[in-house]
Amino acid sequence: MPQNIVFTPLADELAAKAREIADKLVRPLAAKYDKAQEYNWEAAKAVAKAGLFRTFVPKEYGGHGAGVLALARVTEELAKADSGFGVAFAVNALGSFPILVGGTEAQKKKWLPSIAAGEKFVAFCLSEKFAGSDAGGLSVTAVEDGDDYVICGEKKWTTNGGVADIYSVFCVTDPTSKSRRISAIVVEKGTPGFTVKKVEDKMGIRCVPVVETHFDHVRVPKSNLIGERPGMGFKHAMMTLDLARPGVAAQAVGAAQGALDLANVYAQRRQQFGVPISNHQMVQQMLADMAMKTEAARWLVYAAAAAADSQAANVGQRAAMAKCFATDVAMDVATDAVQIFGGYGYMEDYPIAKFFRDAKILQIYEGTNQIQRIVIARSLIRDANDLGHLDEYIPRETQKTYQEDGAVKQA
Ligand SMILES: Cc1cc2nc3c(=O)[nH]c(=O)nc-3n(C[C@H](O)[C@H](O)[C@H](O)COP(=O)(O)OP(=O)(O)OC[C@H]3O[C@@H](n4cnc5c(N)ncnc54)[C@H](O)[C@@H]3O)c2cc1C
Repeated sequence: MPQNIVFTPLADELAAKAREIADKLVRPLAAKYDKAQEYNWEAAKAVAKAGLFRTFVPKEYGGHGAGVLALARVTEELAKADSGFGVAFAVNALGSFPILVGGTEAQKKKWLPSIAAGEKFVAFCLSEKFAGSDAGGLSVTAVEDGDDYVICGEKKWTTNGGVADIYSVFCVTDPTSKSRRISAIVVEKGTPGFTVKKVEDKMGIRCVPVVETHFDHVRVPKSNLIGERPGMGFKHAMMTLDLARPGVAAQAVGAAQGALDLANVYAQRRQQFGVPISNHQMVQQMLADMAMKTEAARWLVYAAAAAADSQAANVGQRAAMAKCFATDVAMDVATDAVQIFGGYGYMEDYPIAKFFRDAKILQIYEGTNQIQRIVIARSLIRDANDLGHLDEYIPRETQKTYQEDGAVKQA
């Protein structure tokens, strides 16, 4: 069913504030922080001051309670100026969602208000060296010891590592269980034995650190276990990704729009054969396709975000569709934008090359686009069970059922 998409005045206001900060403090500084691989603290502080970290946090914990759709719009505005800063903002929601979806009342009261205020930044530690797409295959352990858990092992590719104060860490708490193997545990910056190592030298999104997080007998109180009981971590991770993927998709829409806007302006300014290149029909075709795909992605993202806000039944499928489609669009649009810039597009002197470098990661993190397609297909296959009324239009001779003794019975 199509989703009702409602823009509240609050969401409009938050998106407008994000645009203002993006224009003043993100776009003009993007190249500098990309080159230096440094975090844009000026912009992050302005985002905190403008109350934008409050967007996704419920009102009772100091937030605006504006939901995933408003979060998507804010993220889009920031990513339009710099995809790296877009993720630097959005990852705070990714890291906070395990607490939001699985935390106890006491845990929400403890951590969410400072996240909402932008006083504390957050990171999400799921991936490991040997567990990427196969997120169930984690090896970082958390062993009970009196009133504490003791965490050992390494996480790979923690975005915001070092900047963040609060880390949602997915650990194996019951190696013998298949369904209740994993739990999410909060580890705070400064806890003895917890260190950030190997700040990665990345192709794109270079203003936000991505690191290894190491846990050497890190002792945290059992009250840091997210939720009432251990074993809920995998479920919390999946629920988190359903809420966070519209955010990655929104980064992609912002990035696509940012690249399109630059290419559009350049196509009016650059002259070849005595006319602006935008007069050439093949350039027009590229611009038209870029605009069409970006707009289609935008509304798919808004629909997925609205589905998350209304807790629709098929949130996972919609989030995966939005993530996969929008991030493929961002890569396509960034590629065509470089093409429109010609040789200048290939040079690091201008931001368009950065849009291209930044786009690639969108197809990889928070579940590769192959994994998104698996999620979508599995959900479609489940949906087929509700389409029994179409059976009469399916060739009968193709329909087999199996009897209890294994013999095939023609329908
Ligand atoms: C810059 C960056 C930031 C990141 N930030 C975070 C973060 O903050 N927190 C975090 O927890 N993780 C983070 N990640 C990790 C990211 O989510 C993983 O890289 C991603 O899930 C893919 O895992 P992998 O790299 O191990 O690839 P693999 O899982 O090894 O996949 C390699 C290739 O095989 C394909 N593949 C794997 N399994 C299947 C299958 N069943 N069917 C079809 N194809 C398959 C994949 O699609 C991919 O093309 C980040 C990664 C990067 C690079």
